[in-house]
Amino acid sequence: MTSDEALLPLLAAEPDSRRPILSVPDSELLSWLATQGEKKFRLGQIRRWLFDSRVGSFDEMSNLSRKLRDQLEAEFRFEGFEKVGHQIATDRTEKLLLKLSDGELVECVLMRDPGRRTVCISTQVGCAMGCTFCASGLLGVKRDLTTTEIVEQVLVLNRLMQDDEKITNVVVMGIGEPLANYTNLMSALETLTSGEGLGLGARRITVSTVGIPAKIREFAQQGQQFNLAISLHAPNDELRTEIVPVNKGTGLRQILSAADEFFEVTGRRVSWEYVLLAGVNDQPEHAEELAQLLRNRIAHVNLIPMNGVSELNLQAPGEPQTRRFQEILQGRGVNVTVRKRKGADIDAACGQLRLNRS
Ligand code: SAH
Repeated sequence: MTSDEALLPLLAAEPDSRRPILSVPDSELLSWLATQGEKKFRLGQIRRWLFDSRVGSFDEMSNLSRKLRDQLEAEFRFEGFEKVGHQIATDRTEKLLLKLSDGELVECVLMRDPGRRTVCISTQVGCAMGCTFCASGLLGVKRDLTTTEIVEQVLVLNRLMQDDEKITNVVVMGIGEPLANYTNLMSALETLTSGEGLGLGARRITVSTVGIPAKIREFAQQGQQFNLAISLHAPNDELRTEIVPVNKGTGLRQILSAADEFFEVTGRRVSWEYVLLAGVNDQPEHAEELAQLLRNRIAHVNLIPMNGVSELNLQAPGEPQTRRFQEILQGRGVNVTVRKRKGADIDAACGQLRLNRS
């Protein structure tokens, strides 16, 4: 061992006390700038670098003086996490593994479609919902992500893109139950939609939930045009409770009624996600029952043939079964699509994100 190597554990143990710049409130940043003898407009410049550009350090903020860049570096962290994994799938889906300041890990994903760039972000470290087919909940939940940690995922994915690309859509469908971290999520969405942040249209943002009725109602009252996707996965309570255990304390009726209220208040059509699990919820009678459940509702069903999770003994039905399920719904007048699988070869598809990558 060289003497440098002997020092490494000591250096690694030293916590970085600097806060990520994004977590510092404007008022505080303004007073800090003043103490550095800087004008107020520097705040806007810094913000523009963070949100509109793809620079990866204070050092690259070229319209700030060298002195200010150094002071920023000494006082704050450019981003609060460390990028510890980056995988690119054959369909050009990219997945990042981020190590947060307390050592916890989360994943987020960039998906490319013609004319569309969608980022999928996480809201918790792990997940408490325990859905039987999902990798994210295998180890339970450790903690909520902060507002900054949620926003930073979008920004770091933005920095992966080429000059001629830009984020068109955000789906809150990564690790965690978004509505269980409601306050931090809402303030993150406020930043993403604000003109001073990323300026994304609310209609381009979709929040996916296991279905927490009280929070769905609260979400409806935001006065924003966000999209809501609800993970249904079964057309009756008995089956749903089997595969989505939190259904026990909720029940489909409560969820449907909260979804109806969301539609009444916002005028936004609700999407219903339905993971197809071979031999579990993919039979014609399930499709019939689902059509019956959603009848008279303006709804959209998104079928998701299950993506593989190595520890789990469940799988997607074959293509003919999926098509049959889809056709039954269509035949009953239900709007339905089959979700395209993205990034499956790097475990970046729905339900494959997780917090342990050892
Ligand atoms: N907690 C939120 C976000 C989860 S991820 C929710 O429950 O909606 C987004 C979607 O992927 C959910 O509908 C989720 O049920 C689904 N999903 C989870 N595991 C999956 C898997 N292995 N294959 C396909 N979809 C899965």
